[in-house]
Amino acid sequence: MRNIYDLTLKEFEDYFISNNDKKFRATQIYDYLYKKRETDIDKMSNIGKTTKEMLKKDFDFFKLKIVKKQEDKGVKKYLFELKDKNYIESVVMYHDYGISICVSSQIGCNMGCAFCESGRLKKVRNLESYEIVEQILLVEEDIKTRISHVVIMGIGEPFDNYDNVLRFIKIINEGKGIDIGSRHITISTCGIVPGIEKFMNEEGQVNLAISLHAPNDVIRDKIMMINKAYNIKSLLDTVKKYIQKTNRRVTFEYILLENVNDSNECALELSKLLHGINCYVNLIPYNETENIGFKRTKNEQILKFYDILKKNKINVTIRKEFGSKVDAACGQLRANNSNKEVK
Ligand code: SAH
Repeated sequence: MRNIYDLTLKEFEDYFISNNDKKFRATQIYDYLYKKRETDIDKMSNIGKTTKEMLKKDFDFFKLKIVKKQEDKGVKKYLFELKDKNYIESVVMYHDYGISICVSSQIGCNMGCAFCESGRLKKVRNLESYEIVEQILLVEEDIKTRISHVVIMGIGEPFDNYDNVLRFIKIINEGKGIDIGSRHITISTCGIVPGIEKFMNEEGQVNLAISLHAPNDVIRDKIMMINKAYNIKSLLDTVKKYIQKTNRRVTFEYILLENVNDSNECALELSKLLHGINCYVNLIPYNETENIGFKRTKNEQILKFYDILKKNKINVTIRKEFGSKVDAACGQLRANNSNKEVK
C-alpha cells in the first residue's frame, strides 16, 4: 500500500479523478498534510466521509520514528527507524542564511568510496519518496522551525535511486505543499554520468554538486570505485554539457585526505582541470571515522590548497566544519549506534 506522503500533487489529482472524486481534493489534502501538518484524517474537516474512508483504505499513514538525537553547536543529527526496522539518518545545520537538512536517499550505498562510512553497509534498498519527505516533516516538528535548504547528501547515491529522489524533490518543491524553492535544493552525486545526463533535462533549478575528490584518474580510481565506470574525462564532459544546457553553476566537492589528494601539485592539477568551467569548489576537511584509516589534512595545508586554487582563479570555499563531535559524516551515527534510545 502506498504511503500518503509519497504522492506529488499531480499524482493525487490523478488519483481523485480516477476515483470519480473532485480534482481539487488533491490541493485540500496537500494543504492538510503539508501546510497544516494534520496527521489525522478524521480531523480534516472539509473532506467528506466517503473520501476519508477511501483514503484510509488506499493509503498507509505510517511515519518514520526518531530513535536517537545528537546535538552539538549548530548541528542536530537524527536517527530514524523505518517501517521495516532499517535505520537512516539526517543532519540539520543552522547557518546564518537559514536552516539546512542533509537527507539520506538509500539504506546503505553501493558506490564503495574508500573514505566513506555509508558504503561500509552495502545498499539494502532504495528509500521511497515518502521516507525522504518524512525526514523533513519529522525534523521540522521536532525543531518547531521551518527548514529552508535541503541537500541530498546523506547516506546513499541519489542517482542510484533516481525516480524516487526526483519525486521527493517534486513533493517538497510544490508551492501548495512544503514549498522549498528549487534553488534551495542540492543533489550531490559521486559522478553517475547517465544520471547527470537525465538530470539536465529536468525542469526546475535544483543545484547539482559533484563529489570529485581527486584531480586525476590515478588518485580517483583508488578512492572512488565509480571512477572505473565513469572516469574524470567522461564526468567533466557531461558536466560541461549540463552547464551549457542549464546555464547553472556546478559545485565540486573535494574532501582533503592527508597525503592522498592534498598536495600542492594536486591543487595545481585541479586548477588546470577545472579551468574555464562555471563552477566552484567546496573543500571539505575530512571528518575522520574510527573505522576507516584516512586522516584529515592539517589546517595549514588546507589553507595552502585553498590559496593555490584562488591564485589560479578558481572559485573556492572551505566548508565550515560542522558536527565532528556528533558523528556528522555520512553514515557515522548509524554505524556507531548500538543504543537506539532517544536521548
Ligand atoms: N553519494 C552522493 C551523496 C552522499 S555523500 C555523493 O557521493 O555525492 C555526500 C558527501 O559527503 C560526498 O561528497 C562524500 O564524499 C562526503 N563524505 C563522505 N564521508 C565523509 C567524511 N568522513 N568526511 C567528510 N565528507 C565525507
